[in-house]
Amino acid sequence: MTLAELRQRLREQLAGGESPALDADVLLCHVLGKPQSFLLAWPEYRPTPAEQEQLAALVARRRRGEPVAHLTGRREFWSLELEVSSATLIPRPDTELMVEAALARLPARPATLADLGTGTGAIALALKSERPADRVLAVEFSPQAAALARRNSARLVLAIEVRQGSWFEPLAGLYFDMILSNPPYIDAADPHLQSGDVRFEPASALVAEQAGLADLHHIVEMARAYLNAGGWLLLEHGWQQGSQMREYFDAMGYCLVQTLRDYGGQERLTLGQWPGR
Ligand code: GLN
Repeated sequence: MTLAELRQRLREQLAGGESPALDADVLLCHVLGKPQSFLLAWPEYRPTPAEQEQLAALVARRRRGEPVAHLTGRREFWSLELEVSSATLIPRPDTELMVEAALARLPARPATLADLGTGTGAIALALKSERPADRVLAVEFSPQAAALARRNSARLVLAIEVRQGSWFEPLAGLYFDMILSNPPYIDAADPHLQSGDVRFEPASALVAEQAGLADLHHIVEMARAYLNAGGWLLLEHGWQQGSQMREYFDAMGYCLVQTLRDYGGQERLTLGQWPGR
């Protein structure tokens, strides 16, 4: 069977899913160890029986719902290739919005940043790649996820400091120019948790108490004691949590509070500046 034929067959086998053509190409490139361009450049290539077998196994897992990123162990974020595993959230394209918003607000001088609940390290690594002179700390509660973030840091040669612990716990005595987080913010009863990739991601990265607001509130409250005067707090949240977040930032004394919309037009990220005491 030629590559072109196999590609067509994979698309048909994956047709029940959300993105059969994309999934087929990502899995093909992964198994062949080739870039996307190879699929178009060499349609007559004949995949080996071993390659075909490996693909059949991955397609079967994909058809059971496993995220493509778990099958390949990789996901691109901010043009960085990250290792991913079932220990963390799979980085979402919409979270690149947080990196853009951060870069637009950081001072020209070297700054000190903290990414809370870093997971793969995506946000911290993206910022370090853009601002190599900054000190970037990344906090992660799960020891497996913290180890994953350290591996990503080492492989990409981006020197972030990963500290294991809960939210602000490993940051005692430090002050930051910016604190960022994409914490868990989904209500446990949300039907969104019943379909798609989220079923294979850790609940600890997705679900929070108090209708999803518990960790968001905790961070807004606590960050005040860790931000320099003029420092920024940036928090990703659910599309329906924007007005509650703005109210809470206001109530806690932040200025210039603003919510940004994601690439799908939904409120996704609230930020504010800490004026100091
Ligand atoms: N945005 C993700 C989703 O809807 C959730 C991310 C999170 O909980 N931090 O699947």
